[in-house]
Amino acid sequence: MSQLDLLVFAAHPDDAEIGMGATIAKHLTAGLRVGICDLTEAELSSNGTPALRRAEAVAASEILGLTLRINLALPDRGLRCDRKQLDQIATVIRETRPRLVFAPYWFDRHPDHVMCSQMVEEAVFNAKLRRYPLAGEAHQVEQVYYYFIHELPQADVVMDVSAEHESKMLALAAYRSQFLHIDELDMVVTPLNQGYLEQVVERDRLLGRRYGMKFAEGFASKTAQRRTLFLD
Ligand SMILES: [Zn+2]
Repeated sequence: MSQLDLLVFAAHPDDAEIGMGATIAKHLTAGLRVGICDLTEAELSSNGTPALRRAEAVAASEILGLTLRINLALPDRGLRCDRKQLDQIATVIRETRPRLVFAPYWFDRHPDHVMCSQMVEEAVFNAKLRRYPLAGEAHQVEQVYYYFIHELPQADVVMDVSAEHESKMLALAAYRSQFLHIDELDMVVTPLNQGYLEQVVERDRLLGRRYGMKFAEGFASKTAQRRTLFLD
């Protein structure tokens, strides 16, 4: 697996793009290596199918220019902090050896986002233990940051993404089965296909305005060692 500077974990394909698609684009443009690891294929989503969602994730990844995108195909609504699932996450960390890891914020209205957050935190810990019984060389991540999906609490770190916001929205638009309401596809109405993307734009604009930027994405940290750019 490719070595990465930034590794972003998500419960479902599209979570990473919602929370930090523009920050991902910004770091890729700067020449850094960025990957996304989705834990599930979102097979319980009201609209679309796993195959369609896979194709949409590939399209979104190409728009962003991701270095790597993988899906662990863990069960949707079946994410658990058990040894087997945590080891799959820790293996990805050991193989890609990222400097920074990103996970969903620890409060969210979707319980899978909350569980993903907790699992990543545990796996980051296990991955660094030299004697932890898992293949691969132990790896210490420098910092874990948490991105916001549905919530927008106080951010510890704010990233100016004015120049990259358009790429984020193009990547999100690739998830047609989630964010568009297409009558021919017999789709059901969900909050996601009723103006959700406009809300994402507004949220990022609102956060940016507070800091004198056109658009911004925010992050939380439990240790907050850095409060500026992720990588200098
Ligand atoms: Zn999600």
